[in-house]
Amino acid sequence: MPTTDSVQMWSVSKVYGVGARSVTALDNMTTAFRAGTFTAVMGPSGSGKSTLLHCAAGLDRPTSGKIQVGDVDLGALDETRLTLLRREQIGFVFQSFNLVSALSAAQNVALPLRLAGRGPTADQVNAALAEVGLAKRGGHRPSELSGGEQQRVAVARALISRPAAVFADEPTGALDTKTSHDVLGLLRDIVDRHRQTVIMVTHDPAAAAYADRVLLMADGRITDDLHGPRTAESIATAVAHRQERAC
Ligand code: ADP
Repeated sequence: MPTTDSVQMWSVSKVYGVGARSVTALDNMTTAFRAGTFTAVMGPSGSGKSTLLHCAAGLDRPTSGKIQVGDVDLGALDETRLTLLRREQIGFVFQSFNLVSALSAAQNVALPLRLAGRGPTADQVNAALAEVGLAKRGGHRPSELSGGEQQRVAVARALISRPAAVFADEPTGALDTKTSHDVLGLLRDIVDRHRQTVIMVTHDPAAAAYADRVLLMADGRITDDLHGPRTAESIATAVAHRQERAC
């Protein structure tokens, strides 16, 4: 059956180490990320946000449970097929941009599809750059672009394969406030206009306010699942209440 969920997780646990020194980073987590939605994942340091993102994106394997991207069960894939799935079905946007400095913006955008053996056409690359407002900057190297522009290139790179899901890890952590809002507005826009699915880890309630849904995590579990648009203030209040209850 085709699913309207881009990513589904059933009873997913991730335990690092063994015996008395083991750490349960994800504790029996079940959730789903619907296609065409923008989810923010929040929680204190060590609550399992990065582990969730890495497992859901196929960068790491859970200890138990099942994860599906689109209709594909990640547990059924060997390393080669998992790598191919990541290139074609998953986009990544990192805090540190992670562009290849020796390549132009256009070459960076083309890279995931080239690696997947499906070199995009120049028109496809130009369209992706135009979508993020960088139509005229394709020939520039990352060092010739501002931080915000570099992150826009990273967003174009994440989108060019029209992935099932885009995972963003603190995508505005290295940007000033104005530039952060530009990049978040861009992510919001690709969700609204192209029904892309974005799952973003953030510490910042103002960033989470761009999402349709906010997942709060603690100790490897979801403690709150807030649906519907929210203000930065209401998100900050929910985070503070959760921390008070945990103390
Ligand atoms: P967050 O992203 O919310 O800060 P993480 O997912 O990075 O949380 O970590 C969750 C827990 O798992 C923490 O207790 C952390 O120390 C532990 N952890 C994460 N990665 C590893 C690892 N590679 N080896 C051992 N413990 C880890």
